[in-house]
Amino acid sequence: MNLADSGVLGAILDSRGYNRAEKEEDADIIILNTCSVREKAETRVLGRLAELSHLKETADKKIVVVGCMAQRMGDRLLSRAPCVDLVLGTDRIFDLPKFIENGTSFPAVRTETGLEEPADVIPARNNRHTAFVTISRGCDNYCSYCIVPYVRGRERSYPVSRILKQIKALVTDGVIEITLLGQNVNSYRDDGIDFPELLKKAASDTDIQRIRFMTSHPKDMSDRLVEMIKSEPKMMSHVHLPLQSGSDRILKMMGRKYTYGHYLTLVDKLRRAVPDISLTTDLIVGFPSETEEEFRMTLDAVNGVRFDSAFMFRYSVREGTSAAGFDDDVPEEEKINRLNELINLQKNVAYEKNQDEVGRIRSVLVDGFSRRSDNFLKGKTEGNKTVLFAGGTDMIGRVQRVKIISADSWTLHGELMV
Ligand code: SF4
Repeated sequence: MNLADSGVLGAILDSRGYNRAEKEEDADIIILNTCSVREKAETRVLGRLAELSHLKETADKKIVVVGCMAQRMGDRLLSRAPCVDLVLGTDRIFDLPKFIENGTSFPAVRTETGLEEPADVIPARNNRHTAFVTISRGCDNYCSYCIVPYVRGRERSYPVSRILKQIKALVTDGVIEITLLGQNVNSYRDDGIDFPELLKKAASDTDIQRIRFMTSHPKDMSDRLVEMIKSEPKMMSHVHLPLQSGSDRILKMMGRKYTYGHYLTLVDKLRRAVPDISLTTDLIVGFPSETEEEFRMTLDAVNGVRFDSAFMFRYSVREGTSAAGFDDDVPEEEKINRLNELINLQKNVAYEKNQDEVGRIRSVLVDGFSRRSDNFLKGKTEGNKTVLFAGGTDMIGRVQRVKIISADSWTLHGELMV
């Protein structure tokens, strides 16, 4: 979501004649778009601000902090990082040029809620052929550990007409694949149109070639969505379905409102519908009161579901959430050990899952050259796996048929089918 917001802000600044600086030293304005979801993310921002503060000693620069951390900390950010000139919360990000251009006296902090992303902006992006399309902002789920509803506000869905208009504009701008974005896309609703219906319209009413979405809450995933992924050729065969824990007691304490059994039922439905669907997830270890046995349930879930990949974290307290009232009683060292064990297991599972890809022919959207070698192109399969294969510049931005010939835990290697 932050990447998507940065793209929209970048486009707004581009349209007003601002230029991107290559280096911070050359910039008049330095903008940090921040995340609050874990304490570590915030600590890193404070570290970056300390580094950047030296640049202000020798040159007249404005340092702007936007996004979730700006929303969460407001004025407190100025006392923690006095080099900051402007703090703009999650609903004020897109107003940045106004504050820069309208004689605002700095430092200034603006965290009022209720303003939205402008409707007619084509987000700036690093990759010409893929784009995020935000379909909703905020979240109403209030999982006990999560700061998002507090910093991004109540859930509100964007109108279907606006979303379709943006997709059409992106297609005209060369985009082949979109990712529809929301904290919980499954609860999207506009004027009687729900998420499966929105996907149907995106597929039928626009010329976009490939459609993904993120993120799905397991409690709201419907059979109609599963059917849509199965039956609509434009839908890519990947679902990111955060599990968080394999223990029902911990899931209950997390306020996730599903059981591991329900999650397995969804996995079964998805795999019956699309047998080689790629399933990815988020997992947290060391949640308050998590026992060794409950942690082992999460390991069992990884072994049982066999995720293609996972984002794995150790629990960190987020001030203001309901879990902040629990005793954070799993020692840090134990959290680290659990996380390492989980990461090692998932790495092995991902390796084995990727071996299943060997011999398959995949439709790969090529997005550029490999970072390590200009001899290899890089792209994504339908299942969102990275593939490297030999090819030429003319293939960038096109969908190529590639046969997978080998794989490790993170990357597939293939050869072009002619
Ligand atoms: S669904 Fe839960 S974890 Fe996801 S953003 Fe909402 S509150 Fe946070």
